[in-house]
Amino acid sequence: MKTAVFDERKGQIHRKGEQPFQMTCDKDSLAGAVSQRACVFCGSRVVLYPIADALHLVHGPIGCAAYTWDIRGALSSGPALHRLSFSTDLQEQDVIFGGEQKLERALLELIERHDPKAAFVYSTCIVGIIGDDLEAVCKRVSKETGIPVLPVQSEGFKGNKRAGYNAACKAMFSLMGTGDTSEISRLSVNILGDFNLAGEIWIIREYFERMGLQVVANITGDGRVADIRRAHGAGLNVVQCSGSTMDLAHMMNEAYGTPFMRVSYFGVEDMAESLYKVARFFLELDPEILDRTKALVKEELDRMYPELLRYRRDLEGKKAAIYVGGAFKAFSLVKAFRIIGMDVVLVGSQTGTEEDYRELSEITDEGTIIVDDSNPLELSAFLQEKDVDIFVGGVKERPIAFKLGVGFCDHNHERKEALEGFVGMVNFAREVHASVTSPVWRFVPRKAGKRELLRNADRRGGQAK
Ligand code: SF4
Repeated sequence: MKTAVFDERKGQIHRKGEQPFQMTCDKDSLAGAVSQRACVFCGSRVVLYPIADALHLVHGPIGCAAYTWDIRGALSSGPALHRLSFSTDLQEQDVIFGGEQKLERALLELIERHDPKAAFVYSTCIVGIIGDDLEAVCKRVSKETGIPVLPVQSEGFKGNKRAGYNAACKAMFSLMGTGDTSEISRLSVNILGDFNLAGEIWIIREYFERMGLQVVANITGDGRVADIRRAHGAGLNVVQCSGSTMDLAHMMNEAYGTPFMRVSYFGVEDMAESLYKVARFFLELDPEILDRTKALVKEELDRMYPELLRYRRDLEGKKAAIYVGGAFKAFSLVKAFRIIGMDVVLVGSQTGTEEDYRELSEITDEGTIIVDDSNPLELSAFLQEKDVDIFVGGVKERPIAFKLGVGFCDHNHERKEALEGFVGMVNFAREVHASVTSPVWRFVPRKAGKRELLRNADRRGGQAK
């Protein structure tokens, strides 16, 4: 089957083996192509939202807040103020006469009522258009209430989701350097780019603690304002979702000299390698850290392998498609599928860079489709062309899979099952296995039609004999 692709999008799709690697990316989405990406405001909101003891106020019409309400389902081990969605609910009158007074009133009332440790105020499209001075309002309220009130310059139209990540990092960075670092050990890390979906950051924290490391700040899953204020005192930043928090790692490196490294907690190889990388970093300070890490990895592997092998027997040779937000997660998923014997035939992301796609091209098999900033039309066509057994994506990809009668695994903000760490790999394999081997797919029109065709072909073959 030939895939219909807009001419303007051809440079963002690569079929491995058909041509030398060349890909265009990091460009604005094509108007009319209904990109899977979100807006700048949404990008900043998803990064900051899991800071659980802060107030999050969306300055704009109610739709922006509703659209991103509880968007990550990030769990907290304490306060849960982040799960409330506050908005100034701008109306026509505010658009004409300005919304600054309304914003100030809302902030004062909410801070008095909820006693947050800090407040983040998100700018939306309409605020950018009417020109409310967010910074001035935040400064005034901060002076009056004595807590940091931080403007997040995230007008939706200003770029794409990536620009929102940057706005969030800038807001968080302005909190740093204001907390006491005297109790922080040199053997310490900040966990960047983990959102504590289904409690995942607790799994990773436990690994680091078993290695003998102090975790200073979770950024941003299960995050606390006080931890972020002193995060500059940590010995290392470990950055998982690099798209969302690499900017912060760079800012901290420049201002405080905090070193950073990219890690991934998905899959067996990447999880183990990430722990080893961190252990090697601290080897001079603690010569026994590597042995403790090896023991940890061995213990976890011994526990998980028998179950993984059972799933692999049924999944061997089945086909998977991946479309996720950041490309770094895609690398781990390609490897994770290999461990359970499945072939990845399509892989894409919303915000990958050229180096990301080049690396994907290197680790995938011939014929794999690699795609940047795709849309439902293309994804549907690719899934059918490759006849995949499972599609891994997020909330916007789920209906594409189900409409086509393809198994789906939610690997995005909405997941309810922990997929990070060694235990997460087992959960992932179990979920993929349950979905791929479900008898329900035999009854979807596409597969059922195919069986009918085969039956007819058999019948014709029989008559010919
Ligand atoms: S694009 Fe603008 S109006 Fe739409 S959700 Fe984002 S900030 Fe709000």
